[in-house]
Amino acid sequence: MEYRSNRDASPRVSLSHAIATGTAPDGGLYLPTAVPRADVAALNLETDRVRFSEAVLRPYFTGDKLEVCLRRACEAAFSLSQPLRFLEQSTAMLELYHGPTCAFKDFGARFLAQCVGFQRETCWPMPHYDIFVATSGDTGGAVAAAFHSLPGVRVVVLFPSGRVSAPQRAHLSCWPNNVLPIAVDGSFDDCQCIVRELLSRSSIEQRTCANSINIGRLLPQIAYTAWAAVRYQRLTGHAPGFIVPTGNLGNALGAYMARTMGFPVREIVLATNANRYLADYFNDIAAAPTSVVHTLASAMDVAKPGNLARVTALMNRDELLACSEVVLAQDADIRAAMGAAFRQRGLAVCPHTATALHALGTRRTPHWVVVATAHPGKFPEVLRSVTGTAPELPVAVQRQLARARPCTPVAARADAVEAVLAAGQAA
Ligand SMILES: *Cc1c(COP(=O)(O)O)cnc(C)c1O
Repeated sequence: MEYRSNRDASPRVSLSHAIATGTAPDGGLYLPTAVPRADVAALNLETDRVRFSEAVLRPYFTGDKLEVCLRRACEAAFSLSQPLRFLEQSTAMLELYHGPTCAFKDFGARFLAQCVGFQRETCWPMPHYDIFVATSGDTGGAVAAAFHSLPGVRVVVLFPSGRVSAPQRAHLSCWPNNVLPIAVDGSFDDCQCIVRELLSRSSIEQRTCANSINIGRLLPQIAYTAWAAVRYQRLTGHAPGFIVPTGNLGNALGAYMARTMGFPVREIVLATNANRYLADYFNDIAAAPTSVVHTLASAMDVAKPGNLARVTALMNRDELLACSEVVLAQDADIRAAMGAAFRQRGLAVCPHTATALHALGTRRTPHWVVVATAHPGKFPEVLRSVTGTAPELPVAVQRQLARARPCTPVAARADAVEAVLAAGQAA
């Protein structure tokens, strides 16, 4: 399998190269040259999820050096549990928040860490290496958790100061010294711009990026959608639609790819918060350049989803509109959905998952899988203000969070961040 840039102005590369570089030289994002068809009937759900996921992802690794590392990457990612919990006969919730940082991003981060770790083991001498990550809340913690034990690696986490919840912030700063959390005085989009700028200034031997611009984080997200779709269909006889809380469109991209591969994903609903770029795009309203709107679902506060470029490179607009739509939730809708889930189902959900429940309430057809993206205990203030109570995070997680340290505050400029890095902090 080869990988191309969505801008088609760069040479095709191997998976190893795409993972090591993050972005293509033309500034585009890598995606596979073709989406393989899966032999769905032959995939055995009864074997464990590690083997299932390995079979789903194998075509993306064929012919690459990383093929021998696929098993261990799947073991790292899919040893996490991913319960498909039925809320009713024709609605299930796919809980993707049982990893070390309690959000779905643990899957992609752990998968990518194994790939990067393998690449580093096979080069000698092993250079010192910076892993950059811009985060709206959950990515940074997941990447820090997954990468901090790799030898010779420093994890640099940029996050918008004051825009992440207290547990999220603790998850960014509770790791050993080779994780450097930087509180940027700006938005998530500012953080992302700074990371791109810093990456363009240095060689790939020194730095890479673990945002969802890296294809190595996206691929595993195909596998859990595929698994949930096949399992739902075997249990109910129906192909489910998926409702995916959406920010940068990474998780949903996995769902589109699983559908293209032939897995029983009937349709895809993108649940967004008040950031309306996707809603406008789907309604063919010329998307005005807007700045980010801060909402209760803060990990989805993205002005312009970077992965839209990948989705539109995979399918044209008509194909996209034929299989999916956008449902936008204002903060009031998020609160209402959280309250209703608690009163009617005894279910505590995070504000991101609540956008999907809001979208579920607008559906007229049955058979849906609602994707639950974070543990409700990660957003205790919102939950308490809506329901009067908030669930605790798992004890092991609480113990880890107790190790949180202060973060370095920095102006929203690449030079300011570069200065912190040069000072060698947390090296
Ligand atoms: C990152 C995140 C999202 C958005 O996912 P994308 O892949 O960026 O669309 C939704 N919910 C939570 C809890 C997240 O951390």
